[in-house]
Amino acid sequence: MTPFEKTGGLADVAGSLPLALGRLGIKTLVLMPKYRNVPFTKKKLSENVTIRFIKQEEFFNRASLYGNEKGDYADNLERFSFFCNEALHLCKETGFKPDVVHAHDWQTALLPVLLKVKLAKDPFFNNARSVLTVHNIAYQGQFSARRYEALGLDPELFSMEGFEFFGKINLLKAGLLYADAITTVSPTYAQEIQTRDFGFGLEGVVHKRAGRLRGILNGLDYGVWNPAKDGAIRETYSWKDLEGKKLCKSALQKRCHLEVNKDIPIFGMVTRLAEQKGMDILSEICDEFLSQNAQFVLLGEGDRVYHTTFRNVAARHPHNAAVFLGFNAAEAHSIYAGADFFLMPSYFEPCGLGQVIAMKYGALPIVRATGGLKDTVIDANFPRANGFVFKEPSPEKLLETIRRAMAIFEDKKKLALLRKTAMKADFSWDESAREYVKLYKEITS
Ligand code: ADP
Repeated sequence: MTPFEKTGGLADVAGSLPLALGRLGIKTLVLMPKYRNVPFTKKKLSENVTIRFIKQEEFFNRASLYGNEKGDYADNLERFSFFCNEALHLCKETGFKPDVVHAHDWQTALLPVLLKVKLAKDPFFNNARSVLTVHNIAYQGQFSARRYEALGLDPELFSMEGFEFFGKINLLKAGLLYADAITTVSPTYAQEIQTRDFGFGLEGVVHKRAGRLRGILNGLDYGVWNPAKDGAIRETYSWKDLEGKKLCKSALQKRCHLEVNKDIPIFGMVTRLAEQKGMDILSEICDEFLSQNAQFVLLGEGDRVYHTTFRNVAARHPHNAAVFLGFNAAEAHSIYAGADFFLMPSYFEPCGLGQVIAMKYGALPIVRATGGLKDTVIDANFPRANGFVFKEPSPEKLLETIRRAMAIFEDKKKLALLRKTAMKADFSWDESAREYVKLYKEITS
């Protein structure tokens, strides 16, 4: 949860949804593991929102959240099973009697099961309903069946109608079966995860529960992401006055040792380096793309193979490309602010925040038509355009779309119009938070 710990978009959502709910009068207790960098165990975030961090040194005082360079931590089942049980225990201990327990992703997918099975007869919880939000169905929390005991649940629940998934424990699957409502982070992704191409094996389970499923687009916290007030960028700006963006662009070019030239478009990218993000499609066209009058700035962290690939791209194109490997919030802000375009050629993208942030900063998104990218970006060929969209996930189509963007970069009038539409678009939390409240009311009435 931003600003405490972050590995991706889930942190942004967890950071802003509770506050938006609080503004709508929903009293919210946020529970999160006390990871190493969290300095306290409790904090009041607003009038209606408090966060408590669950402490267990052995499980959570580690260098990273879910794993290290060797892979996922071997005891993730124990870690998150502990977290879920302790979260409910803490509710009781502090007298916070929930109407709704809202779980996010596999790490907390056990909660709907605990409420329905273990605590079904507990008067403290028997009115509590559960919502499970799937931020990315590719991550399911799968573990060897031999470790089932760690869950402390009836062995009968290890079945087709419960945790069992091709002989393994699958936490997300059980959560999907037991939750009173399921949401995912965009309407298109809600449809996609019912199909084989996107469901990662859980499409049948999701489809079965389609009546309980809805897609609610993530909002963006404009308190954090606003070029008019951003202290991390060279100069602030807004759609009404883009002078500051010019300075941000030249500052980025300087820092990246690229030619400082306003007439060369910068294509930016801030991303987890994962297969999902279309990094292979991009790497195939980098040489061709960078042989043109274009600059590329990448900030990313993730799979080592992409670290190597893109380090090599930077080495081959020192005058056009800069690659920063790592997670760096301040650097991310400068890239959004300095870039003219923002690349997201994802194979799948449940919602995607990068493209929405980029729009606000006037970096036109270049995206593949999938999930939340499809729900937020309108191609330059259409009225109300705010970016570029391509359908087929292939290097050729990506290159073709980059070329279209470069052509528009030369057409200053069209570029200004697109940029203005993108920067004025409103993807704030208020509307989405209202939809969540509507859902909470439906399941508790
Ligand atoms: P995902 O959740 O799949 O990683 P999103 O687009 O939904 O993708 O959210 C990514 C968020 O994480 C954005 O706020 C983006 O700016 C940030 N981010 C991703 N990679 C990095 C990085 N290497 N350094 C800093 N911020 C990053």
